[in-house]
Amino acid sequence: MSTIRELLGEYSSPGEVEARHEAEILLGHALGRDRAWLFTHSQDAPDAEAIVKFRQLMQARERGEPVAYLIGHRGFWTLDLLVTPEVLIPRPETELLVELALERIPEDREFRVADLGTGSGAVALAIASERPLASVLATDASTAALVVARENATRLEFGNVEFAHGNWCDALAGQFFDLIVSNPPYIEAEDDHLGQGDLRFEPRSALASGSDGLDAIREIIESATGHMNRGAWLLLEHGYDQGDRVRAILRSHGYSETRTWKDFAGRDRISGGMS
Ligand code: GLN
Repeated sequence: MSTIRELLGEYSSPGEVEARHEAEILLGHALGRDRAWLFTHSQDAPDAEAIVKFRQLMQARERGEPVAYLIGHRGFWTLDLLVTPEVLIPRPETELLVELALERIPEDREFRVADLGTGSGAVALAIASERPLASVLATDASTAALVVARENATRLEFGNVEFAHGNWCDALAGQFFDLIVSNPPYIEAEDDHLGQGDLRFEPRSALASGSDGLDAIREIIESATGHMNRGAWLLLEHGYDQGDRVRAILRSHGYSETRTWKDFAGRDRISGGMS
């Protein structure tokens, strides 16, 4: 019988911090326990069924399957969100989009926010959690993604998020907003990264967007003006080398105050403008 300590040792050599961390997460998942529990029970011997499950998870991970899909959830902002292969795995850099949105949403009155291409619902739900008086409409062209996003909203019991099906602003059906946010696909269709790491397992429609990666961004910038109240902001996540082009597209459609913000890695990540 192997102990927890021995099982973890099999899958990571000393110094392999990342591999060790992943093995802990997957063993915890197989056992229905958190990592803290593992540390205090390192001499316990899990039953055979749990060990089989752990080894299967480690094999899937070795094939490249993302940890978030294997355990079915991922932390974002202060929330623990369900994720499936139908949705993009929420990324920490996208929390900047939430921060910039919150800076623009008053705490003491109603405010209408749209999150286009919500995926797991991460951005919409993070905003809703911080601004109970705001109402958030989260959209997606993928019905499968909306199932996941709705399930997250139900589990978190937020009453101020609604969902609509449709491509970008098509889903907004004549409505007007005080703020529109989106983390759209922005990778170039031929980019080699799409064949590497977690990206291989994520929905292509949530990652890639035309030959220069900007198809979705162009469409959103162009159509959002028809759904923005006076003084409303549009905030868009994009690739590290797209800030100049996104600001130029914003300006060409009449947005003012156009700006780009850098993520914690110091790379251009979000651009926006006022309608
Ligand atoms: N930030 C993601 C990546 O490059 C892409 C997400 C997106 O296209 N919105 O891995």
